[in-house]
Amino acid sequence: MSYDRVALIGLGLIASSMFWAMKRAGMTAHVTGYARSAETRDTARDIGLCDTVCDDLAAAVADADLVVLCVPISAMGPVMAEIAPHLKPGCTISDVGSVKRAVIEAVQPYIVADVHFVPAHPLAGTEHSGPNSGFAALFDNRWCLLTPNGADPAAVLALSEYWQGLGAKVDEMDSDHHDLVLAVTSHAPHLIAYTMVGVADDLHRVTNLEVINYSATGFRDFTRIAASDPTMWRDVFLSNKDATLEVLGRFTEELFALQRAIRTGDGDLLHDYFTRTRAIRRGIIDAGQDTDAPDFGRNKA
Ligand code: NAP
Repeated sequence: MSYDRVALIGLGLIASSMFWAMKRAGMTAHVTGYARSAETRDTARDIGLCDTVCDDLAAAVADADLVVLCVPISAMGPVMAEIAPHLKPGCTISDVGSVKRAVIEAVQPYIVADVHFVPAHPLAGTEHSGPNSGFAALFDNRWCLLTPNGADPAAVLALSEYWQGLGAKVDEMDSDHHDLVLAVTSHAPHLIAYTMVGVADDLHRVTNLEVINYSATGFRDFTRIAASDPTMWRDVFLSNKDATLEVLGRFTEELFALQRAIRTGDGDLLHDYFTRTRAIRRGIIDAGQDTDAPDFGRNKA
């Protein structure tokens, strides 16, 4: 089953990429869009993002078969409260939030019997945000994890087919497990990147100019991650607190072990550790989730 009318709520990186990917796939669904600010709605109209951009949230969702919440996690509940009375019977509500348990807790109370709620999270993004930042290929060959939470199987299947149409590979997962996996693969790494860039900024014996001019690739990658949207990432950490703290606790223990190995000159430990981590990188490349081009395939020019 495909959707005749889709509503995208929040018109930033993810929603705009979804729209361009839908058009690339030749999906015929009529797409309405809504964003909080008039400025974003005007930009959307200027660049042809969505078939209809609505100034009113209720009007954006009124006839939709699929409504996708593409707003920061802290806004999911308030937006859902506002649209709940205007949903079409039989429609599916989904979202793209980076944390699943918190979104389910915020949205589920507004789900009535004839509306399906199928939470989702596309594991794809960049450090850019806003309506101009989207592109059709963002989801290509990336995973989109659905956490159906007991939703109607037909609604889950339809959403799965929709995301595959956008280029993604789809899998299902329990929401708590999703939050733990993402704490390891995304949330804790982002916090570490934010911290490392903060350390460089604090270390006044190394000037900002030196940091910028002599950025080795490792640090340069940290700065890219640490440029990610502050609102989104504040919400991620506050809403995935337990899993992130658990992973950071383990990270701190490992860091102390490596720190001790450096202090005591335990080269074997360091070598064994780095051999193990190198194998993980190989696994990611073999799974087609990254390229093994030197320096991530960056242009050397
Ligand atoms: P974004 O580019 O910053 O866009 C967010 C959109 O939400 C904007 O249209 C914004 O409207 C709107 N918005 C913000 N606060 C709002 C509020 N209180 N009420 C109503 N609308 C509000 O964000 P994004 O990167 O697309 O992220 C959207 C969602 O996708 C988040 O839940 C995030 O966790 C998830 N996600 C992000 C990534 C990523 O890498 N970026 C990856 C996967 C999933 P205005 O422009 O008018 O302010």
